[in-house]
Amino acid sequence: MPLPRARVVTLNAALGPLDYRIPDGMEVEPGSVVIAPLGPRQLVGVAWEAERLPSEEVGDNRLRPLAGLIDVPPVPAALRRLCEWTADYYLSPLASVLRMVLPSSSALEGSRQLTEYRPTGARPERLTPQRLQALERLEGRQGTIRELAAHAEVSDAVLRGLVAAGALERIQVEADSALACPDPAFAPPTLSEDQQAAADSLAASVGNGFDPVLLDGVTGSGKTEVYFEAVAEALLKDLQVLVLLPEIALTEPFLKRFAARFGCAPVAWHSDLRSSQRRRAWRGIASGEAKVVVGARSALFLPYARLGLIVVDEAHEPSFKQEEGVQYHARDVAVMRAKFEDIPVILSSATPAIETRHMVESGRYRELRLRERHAGAQLPSLTALDLTADPPPRGRWIAPRLVEELEANLAAGEQSLLFLNRRGFAPLTLCRTCGHRFQCPNCTAWMVEHRLLHRLACHHCGHVMAPPKACPECGEADTLVACGPGVERIADEVQALMPDARTAIVTSDTIWSPARAAEFVRQMEAGEIDIVVGTQLVTKGYHFPNLTLVGVIDADLGLSGGDLRAAERTFQQIAQVAGRAGRGDKPGRVFVQTHLPNAPVIAALVSGDTERFVTTETQARQEAAMPPFGRLAAIVVSAEDKEEAEAVARRIGRSAPRVEGMEVYGPAPAPLAMLRGRHRFRLLVHARRSLDVQDVIRDWLGATEWSGKVRVSVDVDPYSF
Ligand code: ADP
Ligand code: ZN
Repeated sequence: MPLPRARVVTLNAALGPLDYRIPDGMEVEPGSVVIAPLGPRQLVGVAWEAERLPSEEVGDNRLRPLAGLIDVPPVPAALRRLCEWTADYYLSPLASVLRMVLPSSSALEGSRQLTEYRPTGARPERLTPQRLQALERLEGRQGTIRELAAHAEVSDAVLRGLVAAGALERIQVEADSALACPDPAFAPPTLSEDQQAAADSLAASVGNGFDPVLLDGVTGSGKTEVYFEAVAEALLKDLQVLVLLPEIALTEPFLKRFAARFGCAPVAWHSDLRSSQRRRAWRGIASGEAKVVVGARSALFLPYARLGLIVVDEAHEPSFKQEEGVQYHARDVAVMRAKFEDIPVILSSATPAIETRHMVESGRYRELRLRERHAGAQLPSLTALDLTADPPPRGRWIAPRLVEELEANLAAGEQSLLFLNRRGFAPLTLCRTCGHRFQCPNCTAWMVEHRLLHRLACHHCGHVMAPPKACPECGEADTLVACGPGVERIADEVQALMPDARTAIVTSDTIWSPARAAEFVRQMEAGEIDIVVGTQLVTKGYHFPNLTLVGVIDADLGLSGGDLRAAERTFQQIAQVAGRAGRGDKPGRVFVQTHLPNAPVIAALVSGDTERFVTTETQARQEAAMPPFGRLAAIVVSAEDKEEAEAVARRIGRSAPRVEGMEVYGPAPAPLAMLRGRHRFRLLVHARRSLDVQDVIRDWLGATEWSGKVRVSVDVDPYSF
C-alpha cells in the first residue's frame, strides 16, 4: 500500500514526526526506511502511518520531497506497534525507541567492502609506553580505527601511529558473506519423560499464536535442552528465533552449546560486535536469513522478517532492565513483542520473579515445570555459617569451617567457587590518622581499590585515580587502610591459606569479552583452576561438573537498605550460585556466611522451602500494594547545580495532580544523590494497578517547565530504588 505522503519518524529524539512529499517513482510504504532532508541535513527515518501520529498539518504543495529510499526491508507493522507501545509505556520519544530498531548506520549503507585493522603480531622497537599498552589491549581484536581506539581507550592518532610502525595491518572485509544455517536434526538429545513433555508442549505452540510460558525448573534440570526443541520446531517451520541472555559474558558458552545441538553457531548480537559484524547480523535479521539470534536486551527491537519464537533465558535477571535512555524492562517488552507478533514467548528461570509468578497465578501465563536435575544429579545441600558464632580471624573473611571445606575439596581434586558480589580489592580506603575517606568527585560513592589494575575506581562513573601514597587530607604516609573485602582480597586470602591452589578471579574486570569468557570455561573444563572467586558473573549459566563446593562470603550484602526486592534478589542470587555446585555425578555443598542466620530468606534457602518464601514475599507486596499489585514510577530530576535541581523537583512536586488511588512521595535526594557530576532528586509515584499512571505523568510533566540544564527522566516500573 504505497503512501500519498509520508509522515517520518527520524532518529532524532528532539524532533517530532515530520511530513514529506513522496517524489514520483519512489515506492514508499509504511515502514520504509527513508532519507529526509531537514535544513542542510539528511536524516534517516521511517515512514509511519500518518493517522497514528500527531503532526502539524502542512499543505501538500509546501512539503519538501524525500531525498531517498534506503534499500532495506520496511520495518514490519508488528514492530512499529511495539515501538509505539514502548514509547507510550516508558514515556520515551518514539525516535529513541526507533534508534534501537536501526542501531547500525553501516547496515544501511550500500557498500559491501569494509576496511578494518588488526595486530600484525610485530612488536616494533621504540614504541611509547602508551602505544605499547594500546597494542596489548588489542590482542586478538579486529575492527575499524575508531572501534579499536575506543576499545584501547586511546585516540585515533595513537592507532594510526601503530599502523605506520607496522604493528597494525589493514585488511578488506567482505561485508555480506553467507550466514551459517542451524540444522534442527543435527544432534537431537534424548530427553527424560518430564523434559519431553515440556519440550512437546513448547514445540506444539510454535506457529500457533501468542503463548507466554514460564519454564520453571531447578538449576541443572535441562531447561536449555528443553527450549532448544521449540527452537528446532521454529527452524523446521522456517521461522526466526530470538534468544535473550542477561549478560554478554554468557553468550560464548551458549554459542558452543547451541553449535553442539544445531551444528553451527547462531547469530550473536551484543555491544562488543565490530561494525562489519553488526551490519551483517542486522541485514540477515531484516532479510530473514539469520535464523537464530542470541543477544543481550538490545536484540529485542531488531526488525526480524519472520519472527516465530522468543526465549528469555534467566528471565529473573535484573540486567534485563535498561537503566539509561529508554528505561525498559526487556523481559516485559519481550512479552509485548510476542503479543504483537502473535507468537509464543518462553521465560526460562530457576528462580522466577514474583511478578512472573503472579502472571502465572492470575492465569495470564502458562507454566511448565521441571522438578528434577538431569540424570539424577542432586540439588546441593545448603548450610548457613553464623559469623557471629564462628567468625574468621581479624582481617580475614573466610570462616574457619569454610576454610576446612575448601582444603578438603582441594585435596579431593574438586573445584570450588567463592561468591562475593563486589569487584576490586576493597570497597573503601580510609586514613587511620584523620579519618579521610576516598570519595568520587562526581558521585556519592567511595572509590574502590583495584589492586590488579593499580588504581582506585568509581563503579558508577568510571573515574579513576592512582593509588595514593599519602593521605591528601593530613599528609601522613602509611596510614591508609583498605576497609572490607572485594573479590581480589578474597583471592589473596585463599592464596595465603592455600598456596598450592590455582585461583581465578571472575568479574567484569577480568572477563570483559566473550573470548575471555570462553578462555575461562576452557580452563575450568581442563581442570586448570581449583578455586574461582567471582561476582554475580559466575552465578548463572555455567555448567562445570567437577565444581562441588560453593561458599557465599557475605549473604547479608544485599539485605541492608530498604529496597523492595532486597530479599527476593538475595534469594535468587544465592539459589543461582548454589546451583553451580554438584551439577555432575558428585554431590554439591554450599556454605552461606551470614550474620543473620534467622532471616527468612536464609532460612528458606537452608530448608529449600521456596514456596513458603515466595508466598510470604508475595503477601507482603500485596499488603503494601507494591508491584505487581500496585504500580511505581520514579521521576528523577538532575542538574549540575544542586539548587537548580532541587528547585525544579520541588516545583514538580507542588504541581502533582490529585488523583484518586495515586500518591506522590518526595522530592528527596535520589539513592545516588550525585551521579556523574549531576545532583539528583527523586519523586516516587505509587499508584493502584488500574490507574493509567503514564497518562497522569505525561499531563503533569507536560504542564511544568524547566531550563535546558535540568534533566527530568521517568523510570516506569523502576527496578531498584
Ligand atoms: P538448566 O538450564 O535448567 O540449568 P541445562 O539445560 O543447562 O539446565 O542442563 C544442565 C546440564 O545437563 C547440561 O550440561 C545439559 O547438557 C545436561 N542435560 C540436560 N538434559 C539433558 C538430556 N536430556 N540429555 C543429555 N544432557 C542433558
Ligand atoms: Zn563516580
